[in-house]
Amino acid sequence: MLLDCAIIGGGPAGLSAALVVGRGRKQVIVFDDELPRNRVTQESHGFITNDGMTPFEIRRAGEADLQKYPNIKIKRSRIVDIQKKEERFTLLTHEGDTFKAKKIILATGLQDILPEIEGIHDVYGKTLFSCPFCDGWELKDKELALIAESQRALHMAKLLSNWTKDLIVFTNGHVLAEEDKVLLTAHSIQVIDVPIVSIDQDNGQLRSLQLANGETVKREGGFVASEFKQSAPFAEKLGCQMTKNAGIETDILGRTTVSGVFACGDNLGGPAQLVLAAAAGSQAGMGVIHELVQEEFQEKTSL
Ligand SMILES: Cc1cc2nc3c(=O)[nH]c(=O)nc-3n(C[C@H](O)[C@H](O)[C@H](O)COP(=O)(O)OP(=O)(O)OC[C@H]3O[C@@H](n4cnc5c(N)ncnc54)[C@H](O)[C@@H]3O)c2cc1C
Repeated sequence: MLLDCAIIGGGPAGLSAALVVGRGRKQVIVFDDELPRNRVTQESHGFITNDGMTPFEIRRAGEADLQKYPNIKIKRSRIVDIQKKEERFTLLTHEGDTFKAKKIILATGLQDILPEIEGIHDVYGKTLFSCPFCDGWELKDKELALIAESQRALHMAKLLSNWTKDLIVFTNGHVLAEEDKVLLTAHSIQVIDVPIVSIDQDNGQLRSLQLANGETVKREGGFVASEFKQSAPFAEKLGCQMTKNAGIETDILGRTTVSGVFACGDNLGGPAQLVLAAAAGSQAGMGVIHELVQEEFQEKTSL
């Protein structure tokens, strides 16, 4: 069977795209292997009508919305390869099944790369987070750490000063520009550039940071300026133009620079928020419908 659209990724971006494409009366399958970057968190915030739900509750609610459309299917499967030939896509699943589609939407998200510090994975998503808009409220007025190895330290520290007045920046042995240090110190934000040996925690509750000089610094939680990478290699493999911060370049309707390939969500490399991913999915869904309808019109005209 030739699908109208295959969506790779069933997070808020992919599910939202599926809703629009499905309601546009097209045959669509969402492929998802349930490894979103926010799977480590207990609660998601800032997504109106879903505030405080777990990431998987939001997904299950999205999937329930799709269930009433017989032309939308969800398949729990990892796509391992996508080939494009004559404006048709062939997708290969981890299990070895192939699917053909007229259009594809990449809603594959990102994966975080955390600094290599013992104990960091035990607290990440519980009391150590990456985005103050997502989790700043829950950590407000606490004794916080900001672990930032790059020059993003200043920007993040400034932002975090909105949620707490007790912030220490840990550069984990990296050197912060002298003027940034001066500015932060002037705002009573201490900068510690000694390497971190480990994070002490208790059931995910950050307690303190152990430093290479033997010092222990007590903290109640914090943020980390994590790096990230694309969860899937398809955009680059298919030849899509990437942005300078390693996102996939698209227009307002989610069209990439390769015809028939759409993208939406975190993988665009913009601000990472559930509501924005869902909105981008909706835009990409509209983009797919616009193109399919235009192509169907053209086919009929040339008959
Ligand atoms: C710790 C943490 C906490 C966060 N908290 C919040 C919050 O409170 N509020 C908020 O608004 N945002 C939060 N975010 C950001 C939020 O998680 C993202 O913005 C959002 O999940 C992006 O949605 P998405 O659909 O683009 O990608 P994702 O939700 O990451 O979904 C992508 C999906 O694609 C699947 N996939 C990838 N490759 C393949 C493949 N080859 N085959 C099949 N499936 C594939 C993945 O398994 C995944 O299920 C948080 C992020 C992190 C890291």
